[in-house]
Amino acid sequence: MKQNLLDLDAAGLGRFFEAREEKPFRARQLLHWIHQRGESDFARMSDLARPLRDKLALCACIEAPRIVGDTAAQDGTRKWLLKVDGSNAVEAVFIPEPSRGTLCVSSQAGCVLDCAFCSTGKQGFNRNLGTAEIVGQLWLANRLLEGERPVTNVVMMGMGEPLLNLDNVIPALRLMLDDNAYGLSRRRVTVSTAGVIPGMDRLRDECPVALALSLHAPNDALRDQLVPVNRKYPLRELLAACNRYLQKAPRDFITLEYVMLEGVNDADAQARELVAVARQVRCKFNLIPFNPFPHSGFRRSSPERIRRFAEILQRAGLTVTTRKIRGDGIAAACGQLAGDVADRTQRSARRIPLKEVRA
Ligand code: SAH
Repeated sequence: MKQNLLDLDAAGLGRFFEAREEKPFRARQLLHWIHQRGESDFARMSDLARPLRDKLALCACIEAPRIVGDTAAQDGTRKWLLKVDGSNAVEAVFIPEPSRGTLCVSSQAGCVLDCAFCSTGKQGFNRNLGTAEIVGQLWLANRLLEGERPVTNVVMMGMGEPLLNLDNVIPALRLMLDDNAYGLSRRRVTVSTAGVIPGMDRLRDECPVALALSLHAPNDALRDQLVPVNRKYPLRELLAACNRYLQKAPRDFITLEYVMLEGVNDADAQARELVAVARQVRCKFNLIPFNPFPHSGFRRSSPERIRRFAEILQRAGLTVTTRKIRGDGIAAACGQLAGDVADRTQRSARRIPLKEVRA
């Protein structure tokens, strides 16, 4: 089988060339061709000697997932459906803003965590994406979008839990950061987690980038319901893990994501409870208006409710932003990424009645 070079970070490429008795600097040349110039044809890599080009064509390839869907929303948000194998497809979303272009990247086909309000979880889990399938989303986006270096920021906030797939996510992150590849700063690459503590510790030690934590509830009772992995990694331990992460993080705060669910987690009293939680870690809040999907059983909090909730946090001295709703016309908003994953669990058939998740 041919080695897909999109699967290899700088160290991996170094080993690849070493094993073939080639000079180590070939790794740097290949990184440039593949990731900066978006080249996939060895024949066009003009500064490589012809025998090497021929040799590479025999033993290696540069293959990203195949694009099977491409939709653009009115606001410029673009969503790609990417086929990763015979039965699985995942989604990547590009969100243009005047000062930056953010790519939202998937890390798994499906997800095991089954958060109550997320459509990805409803399909169950199929498999981890490989490094080539993860970094391939960035590779494709840069090739498909207009302009020089259109993607300035990456958020691992697509389908899946990145911290449950670190063997493949870490080499992909290293490529995003590598000056010979995408050269993004650690502050412009964000990993979002539902709170997988061992993964937070490993990311901190091996490849610290900006971290977002999907908090969504101010206490364990409600969080156990909304984000079931909380039963394994409860709030107290999670906050301690955040503080350990901050010792090596490129930013001096953790982003706390909080999806606004009407009548579930959006009351004044819950905002006040949240203030007490936020006192335990340096953080900024990102309130996410819930994005509906069929049979979710939840409703989005009203703009007035979200404003009031934010105000309580702000009055306590916390920094709060409310996420603009982007791409919801094409089901590209947070929690709406479903891809096309073979549903083997029938989770989507289960409905969660609202009263069950109320604290
Ligand atoms: N598994 C990771 C990353 C994927 S989700 C995590 O949990 O952080 C990216 C963000 O979108 C998370 O904060 C997630 O909780 C949120 N989200 C999921 N479903 C949503 C929905 N329907 N509406 C709004 N946000 C949602």
